[in-house]
Amino acid sequence: MKKFKIKFDREVCIGCQACTSVCDNWIRDGDKVKPKKLEISENELKSNKEAEDICPVNAIKIEK
Ligand code: SF4
Repeated sequence: MKKFKIKFDREVCIGCQACTSVCDNWIRDGDKVKPKKLEISENELKSNKEAEDICPVNAIKIEK
């Protein structure tokens, strides 16, 4: 199955928690967040894409 890589820029993240509200791969980490997994399968793509789209500072990028 195809895998997708997530790139997360913690420096850019402002800790708004929007990603954690749309995708359970994203969890609170101190005053910011972290992904549980940096490599996701196709069936995890939709919710992680939502996290990518909702992030106001583009800290989340999914590589295809
Ligand atoms: S949506 Fe973006 S800025 Fe907000 S907590 Fe998630 S990664 Fe950080």
